[in-house]
Formats: sequence, C-alpha cells, structure tokens
Amino acid sequence: MQLGDFDVVVVGAGFFGATIAERVASQLGGKVCVLDRRPHIGGNAYSEVDPDSGIEVHRYGTHIFHTNSEAVWSYLHRFTEFTGYRHRVFTVAQGRLYSMPINLATISAAFGRVMTPQEAQAAIAKEADAHGATAAQNLEDKAIASVGRTLYDLLIRGYTRKQWQTEPRELSAEIIGRLPVRLTFDDRYFADRYEGMPADGYTAIFRRMLADPNIALHLGVDYFDVADQIRPDQLVVYTGPIDRFFRYRCGELGWRTVDFAREVHDVADFQGAAVINYADAEVPFTRVHEFRHLHPERDYSQPKTTIYREYSRFAGRDDEPYYPINTAADRAILHGYRSMMAKHPNLVFGGRLGSYKYLDMHQAIGAALKTFENEITAFLAERKMPAAAAMAG
Ligand code: FAD
Ligand code: UDP
Repeated sequence: MQLGDFDVVVVGAGFFGATIAERVASQLGGKVCVLDRRPHIGGNAYSEVDPDSGIEVHRYGTHIFHTNSEAVWSYLHRFTEFTGYRHRVFTVAQGRLYSMPINLATISAAFGRVMTPQEAQAAIAKEADAHGATAAQNLEDKAIASVGRTLYDLLIRGYTRKQWQTEPRELSAEIIGRLPVRLTFDDRYFADRYEGMPADGYTAIFRRMLADPNIALHLGVDYFDVADQIRPDQLVVYTGPIDRFFRYRCGELGWRTVDFAREVHDVADFQGAAVINYADAEVPFTRVHEFRHLHPERDYSQPKTTIYREYSRFAGRDDEPYYPINTAADRAILHGYRSMMAKHPNLVFGGRLGSYKYLDMHQAIGAALKTFENEITAFLAERKMPAAAAMAG
C-alpha cells in the first residue's frame, strides 16, 4: 500500500469515515484510501450473520437508525431501503417489567395505580420539590427533577451506576437528557420523524458506500503503523481516539467500553423484544439484546436465537472506547488536544472518537456531510483539484 498515491487518507471505516470517502470519491473524483485497524468495515455499526442461528447480529450492540434530518435520511437512501421497525424497550426492576422511556404506563406501574397525565405530573412534581434541586447540574438532580425520586430509585439510579461506574451526581445532566419523559402512553423509544432498520443490514450500506473505484480499502491496518508515509499536502481524516493520536500528551480521556457475552438458545424467541434493560444493581449486566426482533419482516423460522448480554466497564488503553465519560477533568484534557489539532492544517478529526462526543449514527453522518462541504472541499480546492475548486466556488 502506497499512501502517497491518494488525495485523502481516511482513518476508520465507520459512518463518519465512509461518508467522507464516498463524497470525495463520487463528488470530486478524488482518490481516497480508507484504513481500518479492524478486519471489517462499518465501525461500531457493523452487522453480520451469526453462523449458529442464521440471525443477523450487531457485533457492537443493537443499532437503531433514527433521525429528524431530511438531508441524512435522503443521503442514506442512496445506499439502502429502511424497514418500518419502531424500537420499544422494557426495563426489569425488582422482578417487574416497566416500559422505557418513562411514560404514563411506567409511572402508573411504579406508583401502583392508574394515573391521568395531571396526576402523574403532580406526583412527580411533589417528589421533585421535596428533593429541591432546581438548577439541574448533574444527572441525579436532572433525573429527580424530571421523574421524581420513586422512578429515579427504581429505574435510573442502579442502571446508570452500572452503566457508567460513576456516581450519577458526578455525571453530566446531558446523558439523561437523551431519555424523554412522556405524560402519554406513547412508548416509542425514539420520537424522531424517521426511524427504521436497513432492509439488508448495516454492513450492506458500507459495502455500497465504499464500492466507488476511486476508493481503496485496507482493513486490519493501524494508521500509526503507516503514518510516516503521509505527505504534508495530503489530507488525513482521522476518526480514531484523539488522545491516542497525540500519544496521550495531555492525558487520557475517560471512556466506557462494553463487553458482550453471546449465547445461542434453541428457542424461537428468548425474551419477546429486541432490548430489555436490567435496572437492579445486583444484576451484573445492563441489558439483553435479541437481534431477531429487529427484523420481524424476515423469515427467521428456525428455532434458534442469538442474544448478547451487555456488561459495562471503564475502558483501558487496549479496549474499544465506546462512550465518552466527559467529566470536567475530561473536558480540560480535551481542550488541550483541541489546541494541538489547530496546528495540523492537513488533518481533520471527526466522528465519535475523533471529536470525543457521543454521536448517534445520524449525527456522525450529518457531521461528515458538513465537514465535507465546509472543510474538505476547500482543502482540496487549494490543492488544485478542479472539481473541488468548482464546488468551493
Ligand atoms: P466508529 O463506528 O467507532 O468508527 C471508527 C473506526 O475507526 C473504527 O472502525 C475503528 O476501528 C477505526 N480506527 C480507530 N483508530 C484507528 C487507527 N489508529 N487506525 C485505523 N483505524 C482506526 N447510534 C444510533 O444512531 N443508534 C443506536 O441505536 C446506537 N446504538 C449504539 C450502541 C452501542 C453499544 C454503541 C457503542 C454505539 C451506538 N450508537 C448508536 C452510536 C454509533 O455506533 C455511532 O454513532 C457510530 O458508530 C459513529 O461512527 P464513527 O464513524 O464516528 O465511529
Ligand atoms: N437510563 C436508565 N435506565 C434505563 C435506560 C437508560 O437509567 O433503563 C439512563 C442511563 O443513565 C443512560 C441514559 O439513560 O446512560 C441514556 O440512555 P440510552 O438508552 O440513550 O443509553 P445509551 O444508548 O447511551 O446506552
């Protein structure tokens, strides 16, 4: 592999990297090399057929596509159709099952009586007032302010501590902001305008995105083993962890990783839903994924099913970093790396790992489309790529 032959080197074949590669190749006719240290494309959205059950599984945990962005939704339709799948999640706590995110059914079940929206609101407000935190600075205060103490203790506290191994008071309020609270019986996990599963799986999307003859794909290659080949006039789009890029000079950013324990069962249905969360602190896993439920339209007729139990822990340097923890200390370290980035004009950092931001798939794609339009086209126009110069105006 000669990196010097390419206009752009993309590090990472996840959604951010694949979108950039596809745009540069198809819109500008640029020559792109995509590297990934894993042996497969797709980053964390990678899907594959489990050989023992024949069911398509998501190796890095259940991925549901959802977005409000017309631009991202129509961009992805170039590479896939979507099914009408709507995600619904349940949480087991103290031997009972609750609908998640918290809605009127959850509140009624937790308080042991049927409630109107007004009664539910009053019950929550009473508990939130008793707690007294108005300016919700951290996850615990924000959660109690929005769902009250009963629901917090039952469904959030144990789950969050297990998932983050950090006291909820130390976590950013933003994390819980991802979960809506509804005073209706609407039990959909996501409220976005568009939602669905790619009809023939996530990996098929990446295969099509990276099929352009201007794209050369090299899997099982770590960028740092070949970085010395990069010339200063080449553009590098790096979607790996920022702290690793800078050899941890400003310190290590906190990440959480997850381990999945795979089980194949000789039953047609193990749990009746794609995802069931486990809130109790004594249960060591946070959730159980059963992938067959993501595609009810498929003919998975064999009496076998694959499940993954998900266990959460801090990531060491050799683990896959999945979720930025983002404490105040992390933000100070990130600030240091941002200053260092500014000194590398031929480098673009992006994606979840490269920006140290919890991005959903649609956000990673949306950010890549913007980066392509705003930064990459200008960079290549300056280097006299005619199509880029025309696009940059
Ligand atoms: P990634 O997919 O992480 O890709 C980065 C790639 O860079 C990786 O393949 C990595 O191997 C490669 N790389 C890193 N360093 C190097 C190096 N030095 N050399 C070569 N290659 C390198 N989003 C949703 O929208 N819906 C969901 O339901 C959802 N569920 C999720 C569940 C879990 C458990 C997790 C972890 C994430 C979930 N996400 C979900 C988020 C989704 O995975 C991300 O939005 C998406 O993967 C981001 O794409 P990316 O390209 O930024 O990063
Ligand atoms: N959460 C919880 N109980 C649940 C589900 C979620 O307490 O049953 C909290 C938890 O703090 C989690 C946050 O809500 O980190 C966001 O949930 P989400 O499902 O978005 O988590 P992710 O997709 O990040 O794993």
